[in-house]
Amino acid sequence: MHINVHTHIFTLRTVLSREATRVMAQRLADRGVPDLLVQAIGRVLDRLLDRPEVLNERELLARLLGELRQVTGFDRFVQDNLSRLPFNVVIRGDALEQLPLETLRSALDQLTSAMAPEDDPRGRPFDIVATLRLAMKGTITEVADELLDQMEPEDAIVALMMDIRADDEPERDLRNFRLQIEGTREAALQRPGRVLPFFAVHPGRPDHFDLMREGIESGAFMGVKLYPSLGYQIGSPELRKVYAFCIEADVPVLLHCSHGGFYRERSFVDYCDPRNWEDVLTGELEALRVCFAHFGGWDSLGTPEGLDEGTWGGTILRLMRERPAVYTDLAFHTDQIHDPDAEEHYFRTLARLLDEEKLSRRILFGSDSWLLRMEMTEALFWRYFRENMSEADFRKIAVRGPRSFLGFPEESAEGETTPAPRANLQRHLDFLARHASQVGSYPTAWVQQLTDVDFEADREPADWRRQSVPARAIYGLAREYMSGSQRNGGYAAGRTLRLRELRYWDPRDPNFEGQICLGLARDLIGACEDHGEYAPGWDRNRAIERLHGVFRQGEKTLVEVAGLLDMIFHFDQALV
Ligand SMILES: [Zn+2]
Repeated sequence: MHINVHTHIFTLRTVLSREATRVMAQRLADRGVPDLLVQAIGRVLDRLLDRPEVLNERELLARLLGELRQVTGFDRFVQDNLSRLPFNVVIRGDALEQLPLETLRSALDQLTSAMAPEDDPRGRPFDIVATLRLAMKGTITEVADELLDQMEPEDAIVALMMDIRADDEPERDLRNFRLQIEGTREAALQRPGRVLPFFAVHPGRPDHFDLMREGIESGAFMGVKLYPSLGYQIGSPELRKVYAFCIEADVPVLLHCSHGGFYRERSFVDYCDPRNWEDVLTGELEALRVCFAHFGGWDSLGTPEGLDEGTWGGTILRLMRERPAVYTDLAFHTDQIHDPDAEEHYFRTLARLLDEEKLSRRILFGSDSWLLRMEMTEALFWRYFRENMSEADFRKIAVRGPRSFLGFPEESAEGETTPAPRANLQRHLDFLARHASQVGSYPTAWVQQLTDVDFEADREPADWRRQSVPARAIYGLAREYMSGSQRNGGYAAGRTLRLRELRYWDPRDPNFEGQICLGLARDLIGACEDHGEYAPGWDRNRAIERLHGVFRQGEKTLVEVAGLLDMIFHFDQALV
């Protein structure tokens, strides 16, 4: 069993706001994504805010290219690069969304390679598109699955929530944050023992303390995540109250700690400075388990002066040596890959540090997926570290260290586990045990060993929960048009049924378009209207028009229709 202590599985829709869009665009620009493309992505996200949608790859590419054409400076760019650019049809033509996927892909490829130096390994267009596609999945469990599928069946991820608070859009902000909490909790129940959630605290959120306490005490969340560069200082009275709670409830804290990543304003980056913690980690708080993520940045390990006195890396290293429970992680350490000298230095330094008894459990493996997807897949990142480290050292960062940080029982010399799990882990085990009869898959071996209850894996998939209005609405309607055998398959089998497999679907029927499909769209929208309100940008006519098209085309599966309805409406019971 290996543990990645640093991943994000929240979906874009649970964090999206004007403020989040701005902060994300900033991050893309910092990672070297060409400016025109950053602007186009910003516009795509803005449009999704105006009218939430589900986009497949073709739709996403068409939108991205369409927006690119609207960006100021694009015409000028076209004139300057005429000889290197794709077919007129993409640059000037209409109906981009009708073009084949391959055409759209190669157009984006040609456009963006004309924008950026070809040897710049960062911010390649297809990695960006892949990142957006991952972030745009309908449920948080689906994002988790995408990562878990690239790991061994017993491996686990720590899922760090994120709170990019949007003060100026309080309604959207509240709804998003609630969905993110529910969706993260749902993912832990869907994949017991493989998704270990941390709750995001932002002291600017008025009820942050109560929300956190509820999340922790319920056992769904095992730790606390902080992101100071989103605009708060770590020594405030509000946060001291959080730390005191963490000591009392035996909860670990992980905070963003590098000069990159997200920030609300440039000057807020210094809120992450590990020196700020010298005064905090004293007295009773000295025992607080704190992980300074990113080790202050890849350059702490990858450059000769990276651990010097006064650098963030140097400070973290000193804190790890001096304090009993300070940790760090290696999340998003990728820049050294492109520089052989830096890479050599990186792994030599890492091996030397792991040799030190005191540090051997304090440096943790983390990837930062899905954000890492901007540069590489989760699987590639794992392979990269395994190939460049000894097996014993990799075990230190991916097994022993994470287990110590998360509160797993210590392994004794005989391989037996003593003593009991720490309180934060025990609460999570109790949480899983309480839901033993309704988890989404069979739990990992360690959950089984430490709980000793019988689990039943018969929870409905996160995107097809019967208690969610949109799933129930489309299934109820579709059932009228199922054949006997389709109906016998029951609710679970209905999930992947395609509309065109239903009896209503007969384009040769003269009434097909005008009456049948339109009638279905009206019925379905009517059923949803009873249980929710329209999301911004949607109204009755637009919704019916959209669904009319969906029924006519017949391509979507029932679960995809449910996902679309979930974007069109705000339901009390949404899909998370
Ligand atoms: Zn992160």
